[in-house]
Amino acid sequence: MDLYSGHINKLIDELSGLPGIGSKSAQRLAFHLINMPKDKVGRLTKTILDARENVRYCRECFTLTDSEICPVCANGKRDHGTIMVVENTRDLAAYEKTGKYEGVYHVLHGAISPMLGIGPGDIRLKELISRLEGDVAEVIIATNSSLEGETTAMYISKLIKPTGIKVTRIASGVPVGGDLEYIDEVTLLRALEGRVEI
Ligand code: ZN
Repeated sequence: MDLYSGHINKLIDELSGLPGIGSKSAQRLAFHLINMPKDKVGRLTKTILDARENVRYCRECFTLTDSEICPVCANGKRDHGTIMVVENTRDLAAYEKTGKYEGVYHVLHGAISPMLGIGPGDIRLKELISRLEGDVAEVIIATNSSLEGETTAMYISKLIKPTGIKVTRIASGVPVGGDLEYIDEVTLLRALEGRVEI
């Protein structure tokens, strides 16, 4: 016998497929949604659909944005010759929050992980390499200090080295395995300022 109605079960099922949502949280959320006023539920649904429909990848740096070119890439005052490579849009946001970085970014949308079967072709590496044909003075690799992040950094460094472009890695003041987005601004800036050539 099913404990809940079929609709509730289905809702719980969908919600528990989201990252970080276990079956207990999924149940709590499902009942919360069911008890919410209908217009509020409508607004939430529409917001999710709108975001899904309208958010796209920046043509230059591949961050998630509402326009063809993101505000950072569109900004003529930024130093377009310095590219910081990050794993995802949240990492970009973490560096933007410091307000001190003046270059532009490249968002990989992942990291190389032989264990998970994620290879160089599965992240936005080709796109990074084609950007290097432009006028680029430095590539700062700011992938996480996890095994995957380090593997990716090494791979990129080897790829770029022959071009003669300066490649640096943010300092390892960032805790091992720590997601960049959880690290405070002071630590991020220290990591950036302490970057070393690799
Ligand atoms: Zn961009």
